[in-house]
Amino acid sequence: MQKRTVSFSRHASNLFFHILTNCNLRCEHCYINKEQHGAETLDIETVRKWLALFSDTKHETNVVFLGGEPTLHPDLAEAVKEAKTLGFQSVTIDTNGYLFHDILDRVTPKEADFISFSLDGATRKTNDAIRGNGCYDRCVTGIKNALSRGFSASVIYTVSNHNLHELAMMPELLKNMGVHRFFIQVNGLRGKSSGKTETPQVTREQWLQTVPKVVEKLARAGITVTWPKVFLDPDDRFECAALVSKNYFVFPNGRVYQCPLCEDYPLHSIEIKDDRLVKTSKISEQDLYQLSIPEGCVMNKLIQPGNISFNPDGSPEHRIACCMLKEEIRP
Ligand code: SF4
Ligand code: SF4
Repeated sequence: MQKRTVSFSRHASNLFFHILTNCNLRCEHCYINKEQHGAETLDIETVRKWLALFSDTKHETNVVFLGGEPTLHPDLAEAVKEAKTLGFQSVTIDTNGYLFHDILDRVTPKEADFISFSLDGATRKTNDAIRGNGCYDRCVTGIKNALSRGFSASVIYTVSNHNLHELAMMPELLKNMGVHRFFIQVNGLRGKSSGKTETPQVTREQWLQTVPKVVEKLARAGITVTWPKVFLDPDDRFECAALVSKNYFVFPNGRVYQCPLCEDYPLHSIEIKDDRLVKTSKISEQDLYQLSIPEGCVMNKLIQPGNISFNPDGSPEHRIACCMLKEEIRP
């Protein structure tokens, strides 16, 4: 098994393109906020023009189409094909599994390199309590359909106190479905939930007691796993992804963020106006994430200070890693 921290690279870029914010579900941890992100569904001509804005670095840029639920977009298939034609390194669709508009019939595995399915429980009961009734069955069916047609299907699991207890059941479920790629996320590290109920975050102790064991079990089952670092070890170097790599989170209202933790606020450093990228004026996320503090990530300290605990002398017990910093284990 190979375990490593995935370092940030100036030569890799990710374009997280929210082409609409509408969704058929109301997951309790959803970070989409129409006041901040817009309620529009971008028309396909706009999607084409906005993709082209990021095509300078196309050979090193991975495009991820998101929503809302991106398969609700009637022209998602055209958007995927356009991204391929423009020469982007890879194209991913992040879906809740409902796969609207017969998307699997309208793109090929060569066009959509990856399809990522969100599943937040190993059982119907737990997943559907978080994501909505009927969701588990639709998602599992969607995963099986995608795999049977030759797509590379992965699963994303957002850990909270409501589903941490089922993480250890995922190796068996993924193995049975034939999924070889698993992404763990953690609730609360990316903006506020727009759901009606508060989804409790796991504590550092719960995280460290559970996640390392499960990822090893997953790797032994032949599954590659990526999960967030969250808490830096004393010897780890702190790096802010917005300063050392290129990640763009694009929303239908034209806001472009470089730090996902800023997405609840009008702090975007770039916006798309008249189909052109324009730098925003002060104060933007750039003025904040350049600050160096002993607690690690500035935005975490500003918007999620409850994640940090302090020693009696006022120093932080642990530094919080950039929410983009991932660890990976391969079988
Ligand atoms: S988390 Fe995803 S699937 Fe759930 S409501 Fe939000 S956009 Fe929809
Ligand atoms: S989460 Fe923190 S460290 Fe990461 S990009 Fe945002 S401000 Fe920088």
